[in-house]
Amino acid sequence: MHAIHYTEFCKEEQFELTKTQKNYDSKTMGIKKIVVTGGAGQIAYNLLFRIASGEMLGKDQPIELRILEIPEMMQSLEGVVMELEDCAYPLLKGVQISSNPFELFEDIDLALLVGAWPRGPGMERKDLLAANAKIFIEQGKALNEKASSNALVFVVGNPCNTNALIALHHAPKMDPKQFFCMTKLDENRAKAMLAKKAGASVDEVTRMAIWGNHSTTQVPDYFHAQIRKKTVTEVISDRKWLEHEFIESVQKRGAVVIKARGKSSAASAANAALDSIRSIMEPTAEGDFFAMGVYSNGNPYQIQEDLMFSFPCRSKGKGKVEIVKGLEIDPFLRKMIMLSEKELIEERLSLV
Ligand code: NDP
Repeated sequence: MHAIHYTEFCKEEQFELTKTQKNYDSKTMGIKKIVVTGGAGQIAYNLLFRIASGEMLGKDQPIELRILEIPEMMQSLEGVVMELEDCAYPLLKGVQISSNPFELFEDIDLALLVGAWPRGPGMERKDLLAANAKIFIEQGKALNEKASSNALVFVVGNPCNTNALIALHHAPKMDPKQFFCMTKLDENRAKAMLAKKAGASVDEVTRMAIWGNHSTTQVPDYFHAQIRKKTVTEVISDRKWLEHEFIESVQKRGAVVIKARGKSSAASAANAALDSIRSIMEPTAEGDFFAMGVYSNGNPYQIQEDLMFSFPCRSKGKGKVEIVKGLEIDPFLRKMIMLSEKELIEERLSLV
């Protein structure tokens, strides 16, 4: 059940090889080993192909994919692997699939933890947290034991902040600064809404932070955002729209997409995951920042320690991410941030 299936694309005539038949040395070839969990799911289907094409780490970075799935989904995942092979991506040097993170996480450089249990009928939030805690405890332990010492871990599977916190707690050998969780989709949604309202292009919206939990308590921060280098309130005078419609639309966008499409926002979530990794790996443009869930210890905004909390962040490149300091927090904003903080504290407490 837990066997590694090894697929390697260097040799055209042989599709399935065992692990020991691997005929390249990933270290000498500079191959980055990337884990994606929940590999047969919707987000992964929108993510794996873009990673393999070089959209995430660059068009000159060879990679090996390590894809985790539960045993019941292995057959479906094998179909995905066939499609990956059929794309003949030059950068994709190999694929391993397994249900065992201890096998799959060996020496990895980057893990995108996407797989998580969805909330089933009649399931309370507490039950969802408990079901997912099991997964992230195991994966945290596997990261601790097997991953390369400077591996980066990025959590998408919900509730992503608390799942990331659980993984971090079970990987004591790793620096908490190596852990992240995704609020980039919320940032992207907020940028798109502000741009539309202002008649600007999305790339003219900068400094778009999201504070707190990736949930409906999240706080899209229009106070510090800019449109064409001007504050948002200088460009959009409709204060009522900003305080109510804008904030609520970002918070509830996921549900609105599900209602319209009948399925969740998997493509935009996958896109945001790629954007997030690029934000972490590449130096942030002067004066700009982005939204990312990071470990709260030592934060300059009096947010309780030992939470995975979304802050405005900057990267020096190669995973060196810091919380932006010195932003003044308006009382209206502070009140909302504290509600999201409270929710995360409750999520953490419910695990005890
Ligand atoms: P998706 O691929 O659509 O979503 C995966 C996770 O990402 C969910 O927790 C989902 O949360 C979360 N997510 C974060 N942001 C978004 C967003 N904007 N839109 C949608 N989802 C978002 O789920 P599937 O059910 O299609 O696939 C999950 C896969 O994970 C399954 O194949 C399952 O077998 C696998 N799995 C693997 C495990 C493992 O590797 N140990 C354990 C459990 C599951 P939300 O549901 O709240 O939207």
